Amino acid sequence: MGAERHSTVLTPDVGFVKGLIGSGADNLKRCYQCATCSVVCDLTPQDNPFPRKEMIMAQWGLKEALSKDPDIWLCHNCNDCTKYCPRGARPGDVIAALRKSAIAENAFPKFMGKLIGSPALTIIALAVPVVLFLIILSTGGYLQIPEGQVVFDKFFPIHYVDPIFITVATLVLVSFVVSVRKFWNRLNVEPYKLLAYGQFMPSFIETLKEIVAHAKFGKCGANKDRTTAHRLVLFGFIGLFITTNWAVFYLYVFSWASPYSIEADKIPSVFGGSQAMAAMAYGAFKIFGNVSALLLLIGGIMVISNRMKDRGFVSKTSSFDWTFAVIILLLVITGILSEMLRLSNLPIAYPMYFAHLVFVFYIIAYLPFSKLAHMVYRTTAITYSKMAKRDIM
Ligand code: SF4
Ligand code: SF4
Repeated sequence: MGAERHSTVLTPDVGFVKGLIGSGADNLKRCYQCATCSVVCDLTPQDNPFPRKEMIMAQWGLKEALSKDPDIWLCHNCNDCTKYCPRGARPGDVIAALRKSAIAENAFPKFMGKLIGSPALTIIALAVPVVLFLIILSTGGYLQIPEGQVVFDKFFPIHYVDPIFITVATLVLVSFVVSVRKFWNRLNVEPYKLLAYGQFMPSFIETLKEIVAHAKFGKCGANKDRTTAHRLVLFGFIGLFITTNWAVFYLYVFSWASPYSIEADKIPSVFGGSQAMAAMAYGAFKIFGNVSALLLLIGGIMVISNRMKDRGFVSKTSSFDWTFAVIILLLVITGILSEMLRLSNLPIAYPMYFAHLVFVFYIIAYLPFSKLAHMVYRTTAITYSKMAKRDIM
């Protein structure tokens, strides 16, 4: 009797491969499995290292297997592998394309993943809040530029703004819960299946510490200088998140007791008559918000300039990433201009504020489907990997 033969049937997803190629992984098929990328990568575990295995899985179109792979989230896109790949296959870009695909694949509802994952449809995504806001304002009789002192509440009342964004934030939370649950269940299979869940909180806390400290970025070589930019963007977002929640809390819980005012015309001239300076300085949450916006602006500019720098190797920024970077900059710029124009009492502040709200809507409502979703998926995957003893610093 001859030896028993085992065979595995692979079912390649050709559409998946085409999608990766269209998302920046266009040199994917050049890979000849030399493993240089896995050798130079300082973030990969020694056992079953990435990104070489992901390269062959991606070439073969193994979408299902890749959707269960936590390693694509352990990669921090430093591109050391891309720099040293002898075939110019750009493994760093391939892993980035796999992350983009994973975000769309886990998205709930799915059509939103497709809409936001296609930069060509960005105009439609932006049109949604524009049309929604115009309908709401015209229904309430607010579709006009108000006379007199510039006060945003006269143009887009806070009792419209808050219900819109509270509803959107609730939907985003539901979407994330469903998506992350699906993602977690996908990860929890062999070869990294969890035996126990007891380590969740310690692993989660350790992950958060690493993310805040940017510990893994420090291990990167080719792209080391993007650490500062990424840190500024992250801290800017965290700061704005805190400011927004602080403002809502203040408005609805503490407004009766607070000595601060959020209306420009009630700000005392404590800086020699300069309303602009007084407004910037008056109210701790405003200062905090302005500093956070500044961090985001500087970080966003640094991210873009870093991506355009010549590093001696080619790495493509996908249009998905570019769209996100540009929207972030527009969000911050329209926010800063809205504030400055309002303080200068110029009516053009109103359309600027409208544009700002459109970008705020884009960032919040599409969070589970955009590049920003990587914050949640990466945190989940690293936590999972620590529990599965896959991610060990
Ligand atoms: S991606 Fe490049 S370095 Fe990595 S295995 Fe393929 S050819 Fe070698
Ligand atoms: S981009 Fe950096 S972290 Fe990611 S696989 Fe390549 S070398 Fe490793």
